[in-house]
Amino acid sequence: MNPFLLYLFAFLFGAVVGSFLNVCIFRIPLGASLISPSSCCPRCRTPIKAYDNIPILSYLLLGGKCRSCKASISARYPVVESMMGLFSVFLMLKFGLSPSFFIYFILISSLVVMSFIDLDHRIIPDVISLPGIAVGLLASFVKPPGHNDFLVRFVFKTVKGSINMATLDSLLGIFIGGGLLYAVAVLFYWVTKKEGMGGGDIKLLAMIGAFLGWSSTLFTVLVSSLIGSMVGVALMVATGADSKYAIPFGPFLSIGAVIYLFFGRELIRWYLHFRI
Ligand SMILES: [Zn+2]
Repeated sequence: MNPFLLYLFAFLFGAVVGSFLNVCIFRIPLGASLISPSSCCPRCRTPIKAYDNIPILSYLLLGGKCRSCKASISARYPVVESMMGLFSVFLMLKFGLSPSFFIYFILISSLVVMSFIDLDHRIIPDVISLPGIAVGLLASFVKPPGHNDFLVRFVFKTVKGSINMATLDSLLGIFIGGGLLYAVAVLFYWVTKKEGMGGGDIKLLAMIGAFLGWSSTLFTVLVSSLIGSMVGVALMVATGADSKYAIPFGPFLSIGAVIYLFFGRELIRWYLHFRI
């Protein structure tokens, strides 16, 4: 296939899925059905016609306003659609048209939905993270064998190779990812007597570990804490608010996981080389 066409299809596929993800972000916290009723304007309740529901384009053509009542539509809709279109192109560039493309497309879609729900409601819904852990583990059966690190090889030898390395890495990811944040939560509570890390974050990192393996969980925690504290300080300086306005951690874990997905191995290799 003409590579330009392939990337164009990847973008459109991402944008269309992004349009559905907007519905998920809005409806999952309400416990509403994802399929019916079809979308309508939140103000005048006019159902949105199919020709006004084209990802990105409709928003631009309508100038970000409802066709009947002219109420402005959140810019988040085209933002999520464009984001998913671009992620889809990046995944196609990195993995080509392969099982990995679809596996990581599912991961990124879930991370986007959970991040926006966490921003809106300060919750990370179990209905995504728990099935996500299972999907990540199942996906390890179709992943190419590829790289494996010392811990995976060590455990693999210990269990006499009765399980494939990708699945072993996924299992280690679930337990190390979940266990790591659980330990942080317990320690934080022990020191401050306040709830810091939520159970949602623990399950989210377990899901990231299921998809990306155990080393991704350490990387994700480090990178997300780093970015999260920088953003936290910037927000405190900008708004003059103190740290009791805790910012949700889910979006930062998601950003960390996406950085690992695209650049993790290169960054770790660079860091280890740099250290030696
Ligand atoms: Zn309207």
